[in-house]
Amino acid sequence: MAQRFADIIVDVLHQDLNKTFQYIIPESIQDDIKIGSSVHIPFGKGNKNIRGFVINITNEPQIDPSKLKAIIQLSQKEVGIEEQLIQLAIWISKKYGSTLISALKTVLPIQQKVKHQNNKYINLRVSKEEASKKLIEYKNKKYVAMARLLEHLLENDVLEHKFVSNQLKISRQTIERLEQQEIIQTTTEKIYRKPHKFEKNNRLTVPTTQQNHIIDTVIENMQKNMQKTYLLHGITGSGKTEIYIRLIENVLKDHKQGIVLIPEISLTHQTVKRFYERFGSKVGVIHSRLSQGERYDQYIQAKNGEIQIMVGPRSALFAPFNNLGIIIIDEEHESTYKSDTTPKYHAREVAIKRAEMSKASVVLGSATPSIESYYNAMKGHYHLLEINERIENRPLPQVTIIDMREELEQGNKTMLSEQLHRSIEERLQKKEQIIIFINRRGYSRFVSCRQCGFVLKCNHCDVAYTYHNNHKLICHYCGDETVSPKVCPSCQSKYIKQFGIGTQQVEAYLNKTFPNSKILRMDMDTTTKKNSYEKILTGFYNQEADILIGTQMVAKGHDFPNVTLVGVLAADLSLYMNDFRANERTFSLLTQVAGRAGRAEKAGEVLVQTYSPDHYSIGYAQKQDYKGFYNEEIAFRELMGYPPFSNIMALLLVSKDEKEVIKQSYDLANTIKKVVDANDYDVIGPSPAFISKINNLYRQVIYIKSKEYNYLLRLKKYIDTHFKNNSQYNNTNIQFDYNPLFS
Ligand code: ADP
Ligand code: ZN
Ligand code: ZN
Repeated sequence: MAQRFADIIVDVLHQDLNKTFQYIIPESIQDDIKIGSSVHIPFGKGNKNIRGFVINITNEPQIDPSKLKAIIQLSQKEVGIEEQLIQLAIWISKKYGSTLISALKTVLPIQQKVKHQNNKYINLRVSKEEASKKLIEYKNKKYVAMARLLEHLLENDVLEHKFVSNQLKISRQTIERLEQQEIIQTTTEKIYRKPHKFEKNNRLTVPTTQQNHIIDTVIENMQKNMQKTYLLHGITGSGKTEIYIRLIENVLKDHKQGIVLIPEISLTHQTVKRFYERFGSKVGVIHSRLSQGERYDQYIQAKNGEIQIMVGPRSALFAPFNNLGIIIIDEEHESTYKSDTTPKYHAREVAIKRAEMSKASVVLGSATPSIESYYNAMKGHYHLLEINERIENRPLPQVTIIDMREELEQGNKTMLSEQLHRSIEERLQKKEQIIIFINRRGYSRFVSCRQCGFVLKCNHCDVAYTYHNNHKLICHYCGDETVSPKVCPSCQSKYIKQFGIGTQQVEAYLNKTFPNSKILRMDMDTTTKKNSYEKILTGFYNQEADILIGTQMVAKGHDFPNVTLVGVLAADLSLYMNDFRANERTFSLLTQVAGRAGRAEKAGEVLVQTYSPDHYSIGYAQKQDYKGFYNEEIAFRELMGYPPFSNIMALLLVSKDEKEVIKQSYDLANTIKKVVDANDYDVIGPSPAFISKINNLYRQVIYIKSKEYNYLLRLKKYIDTHFKNNSQYNNTNIQFDYNPLFS
């Protein structure tokens, strides 16, 4: 048998993943060893027997094989958590076409050991009587420092070391002397850095009949060892979080662990708080705003079992739990679940894979499920669970659509319709609160008519053109180009222009119009500091302001009992971004934001201002009718051949040289068109990417559609090779993204 070699990483928790060590694979294990296997190897000068993980197997030794050591044996133990996570990394690298190293870095996030934090304490080692005698002795001898320390210890029993040295100003030598005389002792206690200060409380909620029905269904299946993926479709305010909590409670009873994914930590502060309140110190969080030390401690505690529930965005998915029972994805439709760096994985897909590996259940929850997930539920791939009542039968808010074209006709050129203006005044008088939501998703770059609402769209793609300088309009799907017209093609008015409205403008306008109101603004600019989200949200919650102005940030799961009016400005903005998911985004955003009104006893009102009152996304959001929307949207997707009826691979070329990258993108698209079977693949483009220039790098994109995901992976291999073997692409970078989300 030919000699084979394994590249191995060691001590996974603190491993520099760029560094691997090569070992000879003994013949005896050649048939059993695979990538991801846990093995024992002799390591270092002393040939210490340590554990490592195989990340590559090859016939080509890096150095003279006579200088390589051999693997001792495959680990006999059952599959450990690292091995499982490495298997997951392998799956990710295949599924999303990334290198194994970048997948490993995603999955094994702790690559550096961080020093433990310790608390040091000082206490008496002798009895109080004896200490009192010593104190007199020291005083007589004028040992001032020693006397001072004893005095404090007699009063307090235990003192923090920090306090002794900083406040009492007692030197290390003095402490050591007293220790040597065995009068005092120091103890150290390992402490974990705690990222949040929420406390457990013992408030108990009794689930409603609807909640109970869902909880029971999932638990019964678990008991029958039927682990499934559930789609929990529950309207806003229907009590989904309470269901998650109950399911996790049940999983913990079986000594298993749970992961709860949330879209973004700062915006879901209240959800995190609720988990802490119920489970106390068993809860951990992992997110990007933690310090390295905090992150490390959370990871270690999860590994040693002190933390049993991990809450956080995407990366919490890789919590080192070895007996995972459930993964919950809250607001599963959110685009933040798709990674925007390589590997560009979708947390929903990875969660389902990880659950399958650990025999765990998955619960995807949303008031407005993604079209893909609902489609999967309809096909029977997911088990659909529904709640269509709010807690305590609180009514859904009354949503009114306001046609801004009519406002213009009646001479109102301000940003507030008459009705919204009046409603704000009313709430201010009643001391009730108001949210003004500005839809800025896919901000601004489409062109529309303010007189008739007409939007300039590409004939080939049914998505809006994007406005570029010099009145150029480009379709970012197919690359089609045209010139922006001076008058509206539909009504000939001259009110045709790029659409845009900003939070600051709105704040200034509201300040002027309602000078006695207190206004808070939440957007990218006001939330750069670490705790700024929490401050704004808490301030508003405590009714320190009357009006909260914000972008999508205010749309998510907040619960403000005193908010009775939500005003939506520019509901259309997200409709016409050049993205086939624009309708879905708009529907879901409007439904979510409407759900912010009337959460408590007081009824809520929602006023939606739009230039496209007839669009179905807006119509169904008004009725809060998810199924109606789904039926119409899924028909559109099927007609256009968009996901879930196809898969899309985005191929991004990035270069410093604009001309070159444009030419290359055409060359590459032509090459691909020549080699693929047009029955299996649809090559679209090239065109400038949605953001066509970042940091002086120019970006061109080619979309390739196929019914079969695997066909796209196969094509990627071909493109990779072609790209490497053609010197014209030397200075250009290529990136792949599967079923991209443009957020
Ligand atoms: P969702 O996540 O579906 O929007 P939440 O879980 O936030 O809904 O619940 C809405 C509100 O109802 C919250 O204030 C929550 O505390 C409360 N709630 C949930 N379940 C119950 C229950 N069984 N009894 C009383 N109040 C509940
Ligand atoms: Zn087009
Ligand atoms: Zn017009």
